[in-house]
Amino acid sequence: MNMSKMIDSCQEIEKFYGDAKHFWDEMPSTVDGMLGGYEKISPADLKASKAFLRPLLKIRRRKGKSKGRTDRKRALDCGAGIGRITKRLLLPLFRTVDMVEMEQKFLDTAKTFVGAEVGRVEKFICSSLQDFTPEPSRYDLIWSQWVLCHLTEEHLVEFLKQCQKGLTPGGVMVIKENVSVSGETEFDTNDSSFVRSQEDYLNIINKAGLTIVKQQRQKNWPKDLYAMVMFAVK
Ligand code: SAH
Repeated sequence: MNMSKMIDSCQEIEKFYGDAKHFWDEMPSTVDGMLGGYEKISPADLKASKAFLRPLLKIRRRKGKSKGRTDRKRALDCGAGIGRITKRLLLPLFRTVDMVEMEQKFLDTAKTFVGAEVGRVEKFICSSLQDFTPEPSRYDLIWSQWVLCHLTEEHLVEFLKQCQKGLTPGGVMVIKENVSVSGETEFDTNDSSFVRSQEDYLNIINKAGLTIVKQQRQKNWPKDLYAMVMFAVK
């Protein structure tokens, strides 16, 4: 069933975003809160993200030249929450990071949670992604994880188009999201989000006019959780 049909009218769109806002308003500003009670999966998630990302980046090696084409000047963390990814994945690899997040209280927590390197976070942007347009040609990397599930298909396609314009030459965007096993789009009423299939994401990426550079399933993942997929697109 095409669940996006369920939220066609303005009223339904308002409810879809309103319910999600309500869910995150109530959520504590902790790593456990960011991960829906699964703080213990954070290290495995970050480890796989790093292994996925590093080969795409220009990293000086002792022997030979780096194969990656992506500079490491500036990254954007989308739906950044308290900065779990900014702190452990992006700041160690990029000179500066911007964070965009709809909950001001999470950005406030980020200022202490990120720790000593927080001075390298250039912008704390409080905005919903459906209302946000990245500055053109600003980012070498745009990372979006567990947040694109909160956009309608229409908004997601538009957002991806804007992200493409926000990339530097050689820049990439990474999409890391849960995927349904059924191959159908499921709807999570708990936090008002979609669990799309891998196929859905491929179609959406296509529709937005982006190309896939690399794609991988998350390994070492608990069986009771949704599978996760990573796409690098440009
Ligand atoms: N990406 C982070 C946080 C995941 S939790 C991490 O992996 O640690 C999802 C985050 O997305 C929450 O911080 C929530 O407030 C934010 N969010 C949800 N819907 C959003 C939207 N429409 N626009 C921007 N941020 C949103």
